[in-house]
Amino acid sequence: MYQAFLIKYSEIGIKGKNRYIFEDALRSRVTEKLQRCQGEFKVEKEQGRIYVEASGGFDAEEITGALTKVFGIAGICPVVLLEKEFEALKTGVLRYLKEEFADTKQTFKVKAKRSDKDYPRTSPEICMDLGEAIIEECGNMTVDVHNPDIYVNIEIRSEAYVYVKSIKGPGGMPVGTSGQAMLLLSGGIDSPVAGYMIAKRGVRVHAVYFHAPPYTSERAKQKVVDLARIISEYTGPIQLHIINFTEIQMYIYDKCPHDELTIIMRRYMMKIAEELAVMSDCEALITGESIGQVASQTTKSLSVTNEVCHMPVFRPLIAFDKQDIIQLAEKIGTFETSIQPYEDCCTIFVAKHPVTKPVLEKIKKSEKKLEDKIEEMVGCAVKEREVLRIR
Ligand code: ATP
Ligand code: MG
Repeated sequence: MYQAFLIKYSEIGIKGKNRYIFEDALRSRVTEKLQRCQGEFKVEKEQGRIYVEASGGFDAEEITGALTKVFGIAGICPVVLLEKEFEALKTGVLRYLKEEFADTKQTFKVKAKRSDKDYPRTSPEICMDLGEAIIEECGNMTVDVHNPDIYVNIEIRSEAYVYVKSIKGPGGMPVGTSGQAMLLLSGGIDSPVAGYMIAKRGVRVHAVYFHAPPYTSERAKQKVVDLARIISEYTGPIQLHIINFTEIQMYIYDKCPHDELTIIMRRYMMKIAEELAVMSDCEALITGESIGQVASQTTKSLSVTNEVCHMPVFRPLIAFDKQDIIQLAEKIGTFETSIQPYEDCCTIFVAKHPVTKPVLEKIKKSEKKLEDKIEEMVGCAVKEREVLRIR
């Protein structure tokens, strides 16, 4: 039934002079997304919207499903293409409405727009004449010009475009329009959600995972790869860096007080993440931290962790309750993977009573004990990292 899709933008419609940057990015993201769907597509931008024309064995549901994962889209309208000669158009519209909306009572309003100004009827005439025909032919439909259940939209272009349904898009901004950031991606519930949220603001996401073999298994690592793959449906391809963190962790464990282990380890994670961020042209870091969730996320701990960073650290979940994070994780499809019971490197050496109010000077003093070897170890871990391209 549908041969084209009309894509309406969200916020990007209001970006003034830079609007074309956002439109071009959205068009590219849409094109990339559709490359993974069956069929052939022509993606055109025109007057504040994007038109996708589909051909060659496509599946309309697959297309709308794919487009609901492209940030920047406010709504997707599946379009029926009809001959624009009025009698043919009328017949086609009636047939479509009967097929799609036959079962329930509906109020409607016709909206018409012409980009073909030579068309023999004006827009108000199209509305009047089509409206009358619909009332006559579709027994379940009555007019409501103020608050109709459905708008029957008609656009007269090289053909007549007819669309009634609108599927809600994800909103946000097209990925690639707001710079790049490095996500610290663990196998937990929070960090994939954090990556999703920042990508939704148009940021391209890279990721780093700290792996501690043999204390953390291959399956724990696979879980992170799986999570990266799930969020890449929204964020686009992700470069995932896997850092072997075992030696560094063991070294900290040997040299520093055990109740400070987590916080010192987290400081090194952030340092390494920032190093990778610089190498990947990122301007910020992203974590899934949330105030008070665990000892390492008290305000004091966050502040001591943050002290090593020079870049802004985006923590989109900082004020979220766990339950709200879980809801988002379920919505984006990461939850089931996140709750698989594989160990995280943070939990392996964790002390019974980790400090909840670390004092920066004291932590720095403990870190002095690492001076001999830590830089070399960090350098080595960065150099020998594994890099996967997730898509
Ligand atoms: P998550 O559910 O995201 O794992 P969490 O509640 O388990 O979070 P922590 O373990 O304290 O919390 O981690 C806080 C943040 O630090 C995570 O959200 C993530 O951004 C980062 N992080 C923790 N462990 C790792 C890891 N092994 N590799 C990469 N990043 C990590
Ligand atoms: Mg975790």
